[in-house]
Amino acid sequence: MAQLIDGRVMARIIHGETAVRVRRLNAEGTNPALAVVLVGDDPASEVYVSRKVAECRKAGITSVEHRMPADSDETSVLVLIDALNEDPSIHGILVQLPLPIQINATSVLDRIAPAKDVDGFHPVNVGRLSTGMGGLVPCTPLGVMRLLDSVIADYRGLNAVVIGKSNIVGKPVAMLLLEREATVTVTHIQTRNLPDIARTADIIVAAAGAPLLVRGSWVKSGAVVIDVGITRMVQADGTTKLVGDCATTELDHARAVTPVPGGVGPMTIACLLSNTVQAAEAAQHP
Ligand code: NAD
Repeated sequence: MAQLIDGRVMARIIHGETAVRVRRLNAEGTNPALAVVLVGDDPASEVYVSRKVAECRKAGITSVEHRMPADSDETSVLVLIDALNEDPSIHGILVQLPLPIQINATSVLDRIAPAKDVDGFHPVNVGRLSTGMGGLVPCTPLGVMRLLDSVIADYRGLNAVVIGKSNIVGKPVAMLLLEREATVTVTHIQTRNLPDIARTADIIVAAAGAPLLVRGSWVKSGAVVIDVGITRMVQADGTTKLVGDCATTELDHARAVTPVPGGVGPMTIACLLSNTVQAAEAAQHP
C-alpha cells in the first residue's frame, strides 16, 4: 500500500511556521500585509479570494482587498498596482486570475514589483528561479516540493518526470527539481510515448488537468507520485466530484502518493502566506 502524503497536515505545519515568523516580524514592528486585487465578479475567483483572506487573518497577516468592477480598464488596474508597489505597508500583491478579457494579464503581472510578487510570476522571479538565485517562487510548485521533501531526503540522480509545462506549475516544478539535481524530463500534450517515459520515473509530478491520465501501469514500483491536477467532474447521479490526474486506486505499488482533494490543494494557500511573510522579512532586513 502506498503511503498517502497528507497535504492538509503539511499545510498546517507550514501555517504554524508562518505564524511564528509573523510574531517575530510583529516584535520588530512590522505587520506583514497582502493586497489582493480582484477585478470583476467571477464566482470561483470570489471563493478563492475569500479563502485567501480568511487564511491570512488566521495567520495574523493583514489582507487588504481591492475590488474593481468587471468593466475596469487596464490603466486603472495598473494605477492601483503602482500605488501598491509604492506603499511600504504592503509586502505582497496578488492579482486574482483570470482577469476580464479587456485587460492583458501579462502587463498587469509584470507591473508588480518583483519584491512584492508573492505569486512568483514576474519575469524577474522566473529568471531568479531558473538561475538558482532564490526569490519568490510560485506557490503550487513550492507546495509540491514541500510534499516531496516529506518523503525524499536526497534528489540527486533521481529521475523526475513532470507532466505539464505551464508557467504556473510544470516549468517551475521542473526548475526546483533540477536545483536539487534530479534528472528532469518535462512532458506535455505533444509528448510521444508518455507512459514509457513515466515508467522511468522515481518521481512523477502530474500537472496536466487531464483526469486519471496516469494509470497504474505508467508508474514503476516505489515511485513517488504528486498529483497536482484538479478537475471537477459530474457523476452519474448529477453530483460533482474533484478528480486528479492520477488513478490513485491503481497506485498501491507506488511508494507514496498525494490524494485529490487534500494533497497539493491546501499547500498552495499555505505557501502564499509563507511567501508574503518572506517578502515582509526581505523588506525588514534588506
Ligand atoms: P495548463 O492547462 O496551463 O497546462 C496543462 C499542461 O498539461 C500543458 O502543458 C499541456 O500540454 C499538458 N497536458 C494536458 N493534457 C495532457 C495530456 N493528456 N498528456 C500530457 N500532457 C498534457 O494547466 P495548469 O495551470 O498547469 O494546471 C494543471 C492542473 O493543475 C489543472 O488541473 C489545475 O486545476 C491544477 N492546479 C492545481 C493547483 C492546486 O492548488 N492544487 C494549482 C494550479 C493548478
